[in-house]
Amino acid sequence: MELLVHGGAGSEPEEPDRRWRDLRRAVRRGRKRDRPLTAVRAAVRHLESAPRFNAGVGGAVQSDGTVRTDAGIMGSDGVCGAACAMPGVEHAVEVARVVAEETPHVCVAGERAVALAGAFDVGTDRDLWTERTRERWREADVPAPAGGDGGSVRDQLAAVRDRFGGTDTVGAVATDGDRLAAATSTGGRWFALAGRVGDVPQVGAGFYATAQAAASATGEGEAIARFGLARRAVAAVADGDDPGTAADRVVRGFAAETGGRAGVIVADRSGRTGHAHNAEAMGTAGTGPG
Ligand code: ASP
Repeated sequence: MELLVHGGAGSEPEEPDRRWRDLRRAVRRGRKRDRPLTAVRAAVRHLESAPRFNAGVGGAVQSDGTVRTDAGIMGSDGVCGAACAMPGVEHAVEVARVVAEETPHVCVAGERAVALAGAFDVGTDRDLWTERTRERWREADVPAPAGGDGGSVRDQLAAVRDRFGGTDTVGAVATDGDRLAAATSTGGRWFALAGRVGDVPQVGAGFYATAQAAASATGEGEAIARFGLARRAVAAVADGDDPGTAADRVVRGFAAETGGRAGVIVADRSGRTGHAHNAEAMGTAGTGPG
């Protein structure tokens, strides 16, 4: 099994060594699995529980003081699912899998996605806050949550315009030389308007897989969604690029077209992997050399 994971494209991380160890552990978890889909799930699950990444525990906080999680998963065998805007769900990737395997849908959102998680024994009501997220939230001094009236939503929107940002989503791509899979999971971006959903659970934006290639993206979700980063990376492989060249080419195209910051990891069917980003940093680890 060839597997590559990322811990988000963004600024230079605090505690890079500990993050690197978490990424390595995620690879070890994933590589033992017998299918690319279960490999990416296992790797992403591990990173969702690691508090130094913006996914599951340690996820970004939205403008109303709630951590909401999103994820998407896709395999070359046609499995495709996503789930988003879920408070209290640590393993968003498991809900995405439930959507893919147990429903006729591609994406389920919000409180109904949490109910779906509960119905299929995915943990809910988890405390996703860490000491670090509490501190960051306190320091930001965001106005009190909107009580459902339009005026205070507008106040929150005004407040988030200046504060909104941040990345550190997690993702994985895998292949066994025959099948491919990709998965991505996030808490979204810090101080986004409550209910905001980015690229991660959008097919072709945050994740994509076909019989030729699989890709997982990270970075500025609004720009990634407009550009369709993961789908374009997969298309570049289908057009003949190796994964490294494909990643490089689409990130350069993304930067030129959107002016945004992003990264992508890519695997092809022959087991080659590659990655590229135009942020300050993007942590990756894989089964391949380096
Ligand atoms: N792409 C994610 C989002 O916009 C953030 C990230 O990559 O860290 O929700």
